[in-house]
Amino acid sequence: MDRLQQTICALATPPGAGGIAVVRVSGPDAYPIVEKIFAPLHVGRRVAEAKGYTAMLGHYLLHGQEMDETIALFFREPHSYTGEDVIELSIHGGTAMADGLLEALITAGAAPAGPGEFTRRALEHGRMSLTQAEAVMEVIAANGRQGAALAKSALDGRLAKRIGAIQTALQSLNAHLTAWIDYPEEDVPELSDVQLLQTLRTQKAELDSLINGYGAGAVLRRGVDCVLLGRPNVGKSTLLNLMAGFDRAIVTPVAGTTRDIVEQAVQLGEIRLNLFDTAGVREVGADGDAIEAEGIRRSWKKLDEAGLVLAVFDAAQPLTDADREVARRCQDRPALAILNKQDLADSTENAAGTLRPYFKKVITLCAKEADSLQPLTEAVAELLGTAQLDPGAAQLCSARQLAAATRARDAIEEAIHARQAGYGLDAIGICLTDALQALCDLTGEDASDATIEEVFETFCVGK
Ligand code: GDP
Repeated sequence: MDRLQQTICALATPPGAGGIAVVRVSGPDAYPIVEKIFAPLHVGRRVAEAKGYTAMLGHYLLHGQEMDETIALFFREPHSYTGEDVIELSIHGGTAMADGLLEALITAGAAPAGPGEFTRRALEHGRMSLTQAEAVMEVIAANGRQGAALAKSALDGRLAKRIGAIQTALQSLNAHLTAWIDYPEEDVPELSDVQLLQTLRTQKAELDSLINGYGAGAVLRRGVDCVLLGRPNVGKSTLLNLMAGFDRAIVTPVAGTTRDIVEQAVQLGEIRLNLFDTAGVREVGADGDAIEAEGIRRSWKKLDEAGLVLAVFDAAQPLTDADREVARRCQDRPALAILNKQDLADSTENAAGTLRPYFKKVITLCAKEADSLQPLTEAVAELLGTAQLDPGAAQLCSARQLAAATRARDAIEEAIHARQAGYGLDAIGICLTDALQALCDLTGEDASDATIEEVFETFCVGK
């Protein structure tokens, strides 16, 4: 049987103890199935006759036995999340009652839903675009308010609109080219090079801005892997405690106590940092400390993978060789230099000057003071580009979307180069078709006929 003909059911709330649990039922037989297992409180009321957007109080039945009190919320197709008949059943939270309800529904003929199947059905019934379906997953996974706002704007269809505008511009350009090349007998005006290149450049810039915003958007939604780096005693643990708001790492005045990589997530403003505290960096081998050396090796390795590096230096002491090694390794990375112990330092200008060429940003602070949190938060947001990001604007929200957008951008770039190198319009047409295909992949639509359609609509070819 076609899967869409089946009625599916699943727990929509997280499993476990809680105030209420919601079980969702969707499909052509949602009403007959729920009627079998739901006893309305008011005699004479019937599930089969329930109108959309209404609720009914009753009990659910398992093997004919009255179970938990249940509120049924009714949706009639197509006015539901999936576009099908949907009933949401709210019962008391806890595993036993929810399991019982699912068992009753399955016995009555419903099938357990697969992962993401409700959203998939919404997609198949045209209730949302592919980009919106992906946004649903991102909204659920987002861990900060701005991240959630970002995903929400994709869910609202703003991303689809933004991509749609690029598609429209390229589409009409392509239609023009196709008409001009394929129907020479028709009176299609020739496209000027200036016009052609200008459209291509504008759309490429729009894709560039989407692609560039992806990294910052991902940081807001998912957080960033962060490495805290610096030789012993510069104040890494103190800084970690400042960010975490409690004594997570052991702070002692003895060098080298942080032997292992401490993993901890801290929320720095809107950004979640997945922190890897390091063993501290010292001149390796000087004292033959094998555990430290292993820790150091791991720190360097983490550095390669980190989306953010916080390198800490002691402002009260001259920079050492170990400090310079840290700085050198931070070059070309998303790294922030933190000159700590400002309170003990006479001047930090020299050290800051030495560090600046290696870092995206250098700040001076005192990790022991709570006031330092604000400038640190701002510096990180600026460095990662999240401060500049408008959470209300549409952004790409999956690696798949990023790959498709990048393909489209590259194809447009190729078209620009080809034209500048003197290639004919048919070559440009091929690049444009590639770009449009990539954008269709992005939005999940199949618009292979779109160009032809527009050729006929706009230029009245073959009248
Ligand atoms: P780590 O080895 O890099 O983790 O350094 P710790 O965080 O353990 O700090 C080493 C010592 O420096 C401790 O005694 C801290 O209290 C002290 N310390 C850290 N930050 C500051 C600061 O901003 N000002 C002052 N005066 N002392 C600090």
